[in-house]
Amino acid sequence: MSFPVPLTDSLGRRIDYLRISVTERCDLRCAYCYPQRDSDSIPSDTFSATDVVTIAGAAVELGLRRIRLTGGEPLLRGDLEDIVERLRGIPGLQDLALTTNGQMLAGRAAALANAGLMRVNISLDSFDPDVYAAITGGGDLAAVRRGLDAALAAGLAPVKVNVVLSSPAALDRAALPAFVELVQRQPVHVRFIEAMPTCSHVGYLPAQSVLDALSSRYDLRPVVGPEGAGPARYYQLDGSVGTIGVITPISEPFCAQCNRLRVSARGELRPCLFGPAESSLLPALRGRDPTGDVLHLLEQAIAAKPRRYGDVAEPSGISSMHVIGG
Ligand code: SAM
Ligand code: SF4
Repeated sequence: MSFPVPLTDSLGRRIDYLRISVTERCDLRCAYCYPQRDSDSIPSDTFSATDVVTIAGAAVELGLRRIRLTGGEPLLRGDLEDIVERLRGIPGLQDLALTTNGQMLAGRAAALANAGLMRVNISLDSFDPDVYAAITGGGDLAAVRRGLDAALAAGLAPVKVNVVLSSPAALDRAALPAFVELVQRQPVHVRFIEAMPTCSHVGYLPAQSVLDALSSRYDLRPVVGPEGAGPARYYQLDGSVGTIGVITPISEPFCAQCNRLRVSARGELRPCLFGPAESSLLPALRGRDPTGDVLHLLEQAIAAKPRRYGDVAEPSGISSMHVIGG
């Protein structure tokens, strides 16, 4: 079987990565993503498992090679293992990853790995249980730690940890050593991510401040990132098994290397995280030729990718990160 040559947009960027938000539901309420509101209702999921497989199949047929499942919290879907197994059956798919808050990962990491999941990113903003609970609106740090261990035990690799730099409290002097200790002990890649201004609750700390704090105490050696490295820059610390990385969407935007499209949990196709949705996939998914029509819309979204997010004519704001998927 032959596959199309890699997709390149009009600016020479190689587009090979699709993120699909499979639910907007979440069991947490991180202040920078899904702030608590009294009026919160629980939406039902827009996509069936078959819809997700159709979208991914069209993307791979077009030439995209890497899929990430995100949300909301993807583990709230009881059929996630089924989705993963069906996605792994798509010829030509080279990479299948998941982003999760890890709350329910301990009990499902092995089943997900058996179904064909290749790797996982776990969001874990602090190793202080109280700070973690405050940031996430009640999250249980011990549960995420068990999830992290289960992911490693299940052979998911690489395991990455996402830390959003939304408040200096998450990164006081006591916090950094816990992340350092993790990468010294385990083959885990911790990435400090500059918070994107999704709502007024979001603080901002440049990722450089993490590197400055670390380099005063440790020897930081720039290294090539783990498999699937995206916009992150990685460093090894004093010969650590894992690495520390930084992702700098605000201080050093990486639009020139942007390789991705996004599908939100409401079925919108987004060429740029900061821009408006290009189109809805729902009519195509409910039509007579779902794969062909979705493929066509994906092509149009690639053509509509802006040069950089400042060029987006009508920035949509990204107030609903849990819908878009991060
Ligand atoms: N619930 C899962 C989780 O938390 O990992 C997956 C969905 S979450 C929207 C995906 C990623 O987006 C997480 O790593 C989260 O920390 C990140 N994220 C959410 N809001 C953000 C913001 N305002 N700035 C930067 N990253 C953000
Ligand atoms: Fe939920 Fe993830 Fe958003 Fe936190 S970052 S509220 S865990 S979707």
